[in-house]
Amino acid sequence: TAQPLLPVVGGDLSVPLVTGEWRRYVNLDYAASAPSLKSVAEHLNEVLPYYASVHRGAGYASQVSTRLYESARTTVAEFLNAREDDVVVFTRNTTDALNLLATCLPNDDGVVFLDIEHHANLLPWQRVNHRCVLAGTTQNATLIALRAELHARKASLVAVTGASNVTGELLPLQQIVEIAHAAGARVVLDAAQLAPHRRIDLEETGVDYVAFSGHKLYAPHGAGVLVGRRDWLDEAPAYLAGGGAVREVTVASTQWADAPQRHEGGTPNVLGAVALARACTAIADLEEGALEEHESALRDRLLDRLALLDHIKVHQIWRDSPDSIGVVAFSVDGYHPGFVAAYLSAEHGIGVRDGKFCAHPLLSRLGANDGAVRASFGAGSTTADVDRLADALDALLTRGPRWTYDTVEGRWAP
Ligand code: PMP
Repeated sequence: TAQPLLPVVGGDLSVPLVTGEWRRYVNLDYAASAPSLKSVAEHLNEVLPYYASVHRGAGYASQVSTRLYESARTTVAEFLNAREDDVVVFTRNTTDALNLLATCLPNDDGVVFLDIEHHANLLPWQRVNHRCVLAGTTQNATLIALRAELHARKASLVAVTGASNVTGELLPLQQIVEIAHAAGARVVLDAAQLAPHRRIDLEETGVDYVAFSGHKLYAPHGAGVLVGRRDWLDEAPAYLAGGGAVREVTVASTQWADAPQRHEGGTPNVLGAVALARACTAIADLEEGALEEHESALRDRLLDRLALLDHIKVHQIWRDSPDSIGVVAFSVDGYHPGFVAAYLSAEHGIGVRDGKFCAHPLLSRLGANDGAVRASFGAGSTTADVDRLADALDALLTRGPRWTYDTVEGRWAP
């Protein structure tokens, strides 16, 4: 049985059930926010004494903080095998990073994306000249539709996720890059879900920009990155006008700094950046393929167990997806996804997410208009976690819930 690949904070947390018993908490909501690695938490404790403002402080703690912050940039660049001219901008999260890139488009040629995207990789583009390509029933058909769209009209950017945050399916990234580049468009990869599960190599894949969040990569909330080609970032207006983003200011005019400082106005989230970078190091230090293998084993086990249960439908976008990350979305006949998620928490101490996962167009396409239930896992997950979920769903389908939620009283009742 799979043990945690990396120890996480909260891995042995106990939570109260409606019955009054306590049970070990099963966190199957990694795709929303993964628990922090213990090594990340320990590192943060080590650097906390040096907590100080970066760049402009002359004191020793400021010097240490500045060094930590700037070396976090280097670590992220190495994690992604970034190119010489790539810039690492620290942001609040993936959403922030993609919104930043939307302000850096060099022309109005347009942005192309698929209808399966998380809103973070859809709404920023809705604000600019954009076209949405409807995904086909196979990845192959989707690539053909994308190529046709890019041939019909010029675009400056193709925005694509690395893996679906709903179904976990991986996208054919290399082919998408080739199609985009052949049509003269750059590619931004929303790696919020991909980065915690698979190696990303900017040099090798040719992906032009990548965005991800620390909190899905085993670091605490609050920091993300946008990494990619310097030219667009240097020529764009400063994302956050303020201190640190400038070279020279008079009351009449401003000479802006180059990226990354240009887009990092104000005091940055130093600890967030340091934590994110430490998480990158921990992932990069794993044996090649270890994380993938760990998650595939858990995913296969969960899918095998769910296949034995009648009345559970696992959602999938494409018939020909070659591979998936540790994310599984499903519906249970006869039960609203919101009830299933609440039942799993109340009676079993299992944390999953339900709803439309900030991907409304995709949930409509899947025919899941009430949403779905999503179980997601990663480096801290075990076979026991996956089995707890399958056992709980089995119990729901064979004997029904023991407790119901009284909406009038606002509490669970036996
Ligand atoms: N893209 C994808 C694919 C995601 O799963 C998420 C988070 N659910 C985001 C973007 C947004 O990430 P954040 O909330 O950290 O900005």
